[in-house]
Amino acid sequence: MSLLNHETNSLQKISPSYDPWDPIMSLRKYGQHKLTSVEMTVTHLCNMRCEHCAVGDMLVMKEAPALPVSEMIKALDQVEHLETISLTGGEPSFLEKTVDEMIVPLLKYARERGIRSQINSNLTLDLSRYEKMLPYLDVMHISFNYLSAKDLHEVGFTNSPRPVSYDIAARMYDKMMENSLKLSEQGMFISAESMINYRTHDKLAGIHRLIGQMGAKRHEVHPMYASNFAASLPVLSLDDMRASIHGLLDARDKDMWMLFGTLPFYACNGGEEDRKLITRLHKEPNVTVRNDPDGRNRVNVNMFTGNVYVTDFADIPAFGNIKNQKLDDIFEEWTTNHPLNQTVNCFCDAAQCCGPNLLVADMYYKDVDFKTRKAFSDIV
Ligand code: SF4
Repeated sequence: MSLLNHETNSLQKISPSYDPWDPIMSLRKYGQHKLTSVEMTVTHLCNMRCEHCAVGDMLVMKEAPALPVSEMIKALDQVEHLETISLTGGEPSFLEKTVDEMIVPLLKYARERGIRSQINSNLTLDLSRYEKMLPYLDVMHISFNYLSAKDLHEVGFTNSPRPVSYDIAARMYDKMMENSLKLSEQGMFISAESMINYRTHDKLAGIHRLIGQMGAKRHEVHPMYASNFAASLPVLSLDDMRASIHGLLDARDKDMWMLFGTLPFYACNGGEEDRKLITRLHKEPNVTVRNDPDGRNRVNVNMFTGNVYVTDFADIPAFGNIKNQKLDDIFEEWTTNHPLNQTVNCFCDAAQCCGPNLLVADMYYKDVDFKTRKAFSDIV
């Protein structure tokens, strides 16, 4: 099925009113969650070892061969309602071979089918690797949590097997900035994500300004997940997180799209402060709050084993494999029968909310049964 607009022969522009990664779109369209998005882990190699890395324990120094890309494309072809794909790592472009033999063919497939694509990258490698994606890629998603090269040096190599000098980190920082500007100038949609954590919560306004200067079209903000390397880092209080978001909303460039995701504030929370923040987020121009795709409309496929997960980073075991099952069947089994999905699979349409992310619920709402809650009517 093609999602191209045949009258103009063009794809609908990704914008605050059209975010095909948000599971609420397909939930409203089909009346139930459908698999519309597939994320693929294309490498476990990376040139960084960030202290907050959500997949840090899975990173390797040498990688086994991946499944043939044709096998992955065959699996994607069988997903009836597919609308988006995401490619993730590690640093997906770490090896040029992965760019040529896996990334570009998958992006081409997406473009030919009329579905949207995203890649997650640290953008610190040779510009030419990213330029190969330009003709086919919809969203270049980068992580940016720094005010200076010093911040990158402090955060980016904490778990590195060997010490990395400040000079190397500074060169990578400059490369990231330069790549982002050059790719933006060539028309790439750069979406820079910052996390809210104990290091960044009072620096976000400055980080936001730098992201604008890098030419990014969108600033994404998510809380840090307490997963893998990040599991041992201090957890920010909900009060500090709220204050940080208000501060960012006060300081932001109102012409830049801001996308908040996996926030731990829900329209069914009783607290006055949560309801004030949610109402503000809904009312601010050019601000969207994306529902979490993981396990709602998306699964993750490990391209080395074929295993299928709810997300690339949670410690939830695989629940299928593309070698012997269809992705739609694996997803159906997860949504209907998996006990974990049943704990957070709620939906309040008027509040534009389809429930919490599993890890965020575990971090902040242990023992809360969201299925028994409903959004308060004053914030819908
Ligand atoms: S969908 Fe779930 S988390 Fe969201 S407001 Fe309703 S009950 Fe709360």
